Amino acid sequence: MIDKIRSLAKEYEKEIIERRRYFHMNPETSWNEIETTKYIAQELKNLGCENIKVGFGETQSGVIADIIGGKPGKCVALRADIDALPLNDEKDVAYKSQKAGVMHACGHDAHASTLLAAAKILTQIKGDLKGKVRLMFQPAEEHGIKPGAKALIDGGALDGVDVAFGIHVMSSVPAGFLEYRSGPFMAAADSWEVLIKGKGGHGSTPETAFDPGIAAFQIGSAFQTIVSREICPRDTAVVSIGGIKTSSHVFNIIPERVEMIGSCRTFRIEVQDHIEEAMGRIARGIGESLRCKIDFKYNRIIPSTINDASTIDLVKSVAEKLMGADKVRESELIMGSEDFSYYCHKVPAAFVNLGVASHEKKTDMPHHSPKFDVDESVLYLGAALHAAFAWTFLNNN
Ligand SMILES: [Zn+2]
Ligand SMILES: [Zn+2]
Repeated sequence: MIDKIRSLAKEYEKEIIERRRYFHMNPETSWNEIETTKYIAQELKNLGCENIKVGFGETQSGVIADIIGGKPGKCVALRADIDALPLNDEKDVAYKSQKAGVMHACGHDAHASTLLAAAKILTQIKGDLKGKVRLMFQPAEEHGIKPGAKALIDGGALDGVDVAFGIHVMSSVPAGFLEYRSGPFMAAADSWEVLIKGKGGHGSTPETAFDPGIAAFQIGSAFQTIVSREICPRDTAVVSIGGIKTSSHVFNIIPERVEMIGSCRTFRIEVQDHIEEAMGRIARGIGESLRCKIDFKYNRIIPSTINDASTIDLVKSVAEKLMGADKVRESELIMGSEDFSYYCHKVPAAFVNLGVASHEKKTDMPHHSPKFDVDESVLYLGAALHAAFAWTFLNNN
């Protein structure tokens, strides 16, 4: 069956590329994926998918649907995100974005198109499928504040699902390679804010003021001791300062207030808990010692992506059969984050990267850059991987 799936995917290659280009030329940002959703929903209807549900997070974005197999069994969810970014497309190609200031610069156009092809393959072999496939075309992966994955879960997308699978195209991985990692894979992304309230005054008479600026310098540098002195060196974490703002910006005024913001990246919840506690303790301790009041907020935005070991084993064996063992390799930890993590915290799940980098084809530009592009010749493998994973999981269980 794996060979049949691969040859069907290859047969649909032209359509996969054409669709990817259609999405690329018509990008829509997070929670505005109205036309993209309509297009996908129509295709799913044409394929005879069932239980089609459109619109999540109180919007008209996002669509889920089921392919119900000929025999009873479990349910596997396949996920593609569909949103673009607020960025100007600077590529010189025929399929360049037709919308100023909006661009598919992360490859979600390729995700939508490959999952549609997987749906087509699976509908053709559905008589042999034991169980069902839930297709999840998820909006707003890039949004951060209102993650599409969370909205899909709240809308019931994971109800009855036994396992979830997702693929990201990756421009830092050579085209045609698949990278996987068991356990923690991508970082949790959190933000923090410290508001330091002092007492303003004249720059010439510091004895009349409680200087929040001095407190900010000390807090900022003491934050850098958390990862180096409080976190085990075998763990990986980042504490970064993103901005410092004073309530006045005048050479001879000691400001009343200073605001600092920044981000943290972690992989394990214990480390995340420790960092949150340490930041609050350090900020309040230093603030108090310098006669300033501290308001500290820590916001957990996207959890870490943690892959289930046995699901990854299955993906690996399927990928080796499809692509050859020499094309399947272990990934490093990735400091970026992915809202696929919400699914990982609900059901056993696997998220992997499909390499799309080719120097000759100029598809090795960073994600979220205005010249980002993908090597389209490997996209059929993404479709085959989705379909082959679903088929193998359902028939093994
Ligand atoms: Zn992205
Ligand atoms: Zn992405």
